[in-house]
Amino acid sequence: MSKTMTRLTSEDMKALIGAMQAAIAENAERLTALDQAIGDGDHGINMKRGFDAIAADADAICDKPTPQALSAAGMKLVMSVGGASGPLFGTLFMTLGKSLPEDFECGAFADAFAKAVDAVAARGKSSAGQKTMLDVLYPVSDALAAGKSVGEVAAVAAEAAEATVPMEAKRGRASFLGERSIGHMDPGSCSCSLLVNTIAAWISAKEHAA
Ligand code: ADP
Ligand code: MG
Repeated sequence: MSKTMTRLTSEDMKALIGAMQAAIAENAERLTALDQAIGDGDHGINMKRGFDAIAADADAICDKPTPQALSAAGMKLVMSVGGASGPLFGTLFMTLGKSLPEDFECGAFADAFAKAVDAVAARGKSSAGQKTMLDVLYPVSDALAAGKSVGEVAAVAAEAAEATVPMEAKRGRASFLGERSIGHMDPGSCSCSLLVNTIAAWISAKEHAA
């Protein structure tokens, strides 16, 4: 993201929604397989339902300024994803919407993202190191706060998702498996890395085109 003030246009937001929907659809089977290993095997389907719902309403969502659009997308996720992850991803997007000004630069985005991640932790009664999506969201938040480049932030997300493999789950369904949750990537962390990498790729492509 550039250091100057940014305002996402309606077209930008539609493109981002399309990219996220496609990334989740392409990886739905993988996400489901991860959840089959340590959960109930619905994570890919849940996430696909959520991003398909956002995409179906993209015109109305993207007519709004970015903060309100993020809140509307978060509401869609709460209503359509279900499971444990629906309210958590919904909280992430809704808090980001509530915390982000209409015109923002890197620092303001990092501040809003940090608030959104804290809201997810409060909602999930969870913290770092418990093999949940927070194990990607916190490192991404730290990378944003440190002013890292989009490429670096994307790499941090991918590494953080990999780092959940040796962890033992302490929250969510995977925690029921205890030590048997070790050796598999956390599905929610995989989704977060996927979304961060998709957004980062979109920003990089846009910066190159400019
Ligand atoms: P469910 O577990 O209800 O089937 P999903 O399969 O869609 O829901 O999502 C599972 C993911 O949700 C996990 O991989 C984990 O990343 C995340 N998750 C579950 N519980 C929590 C929690 N309490 N805090 C943070 N993330 C959580
Ligand atoms: Mg599940």
